[in-house]
Amino acid sequence: MRRRRRGAPGSRAIALSLPSAAFPAVSAPPRRPYAWAWLFALSQIGGILIGLSLGWRWGLPLILGAQALSFWATLWPQSRLLSPVLVRMRVHQHLVWLTIDDGPSDDTPALLDLLDRYDAKACFFLVGERAAARPALVREIVRRGHEIGNHSQSHPEKWFWALPPRAMRAQVAQAQQVLGELAGQPPRWFRAVVGMANPFVAAALQPLGLTRVAWSARGFDAREADPERVVARIARGLRPGAIVLLHEGAPHGRSVAVVAAVLDHLTQAGYRCVLPLQQARAEIVPQAAADAAGVTATP
Ligand SMILES: [Zn+2]
Repeated sequence: MRRRRRGAPGSRAIALSLPSAAFPAVSAPPRRPYAWAWLFALSQIGGILIGLSLGWRWGLPLILGAQALSFWATLWPQSRLLSPVLVRMRVHQHLVWLTIDDGPSDDTPALLDLLDRYDAKACFFLVGERAAARPALVREIVRRGHEIGNHSQSHPEKWFWALPPRAMRAQVAQAQQVLGELAGQPPRWFRAVVGMANPFVAAALQPLGLTRVAWSARGFDAREADPERVVARIARGLRPGAIVLLHEGAPHGRSVAVVAAVLDHLTQAGYRCVLPLQQARAEIVPQAAADAAGVTATP
């Protein structure tokens, strides 16, 4: 990310004290969580009015089309229709954001050692109930310099996409409280269970300042136990700034071997695993210091 801002007095302080505002490219909590509801209501009312005035062969497709679009947006993890979502980091260098879902688990200690060996940083998207049962692991993740994200309180994988507003708020807010207390600061990122974000996710994220994070490279490793196949699938989505989705504690019991193979492949392909805010700070803060000293930015 290149910044051409120059000469703004105090810009360094702003970059350090207001990370959400200073790094819009990597942090985007929902601003209008009910915009979809207005558009949806308009489409349905418009469909009825058109149906009554011009005939139902025109009105009905509009009504059903809007409903189908909302359903697709719920099931498609990368859809921005119902809420903003990060799909990749805006960088040009060979950097990726490694994200590991579903912990903490029996795999967490081995994963932390593995990440240290590769000098890699990751974001662990944790489940609130699992974190409360293993608080020491949460603290260890943070102590080793990794980040934690919110992955719901109980991980209701069959019904998350259909949760009503109140249950959705509870899933997000309870996990946020548990994880914030254990980690010392509340998570900034949220990953929907199975990636599906229904129309009520944005309203649950907004008051907590959470940004929804999807992915751009995945290997279906929650079910796939063969490290080579997982690597081959992830390699297809590998680009500068890719968000890589991995899991821990998978029922097949090979999550650590899978993550090891992925780290090996990333290293061989010349990629480094970084955390997006750390990367943004590393690039923006020196530039802000240069601005304060009156040094021209390198475009
Ligand atoms: Zn999950």
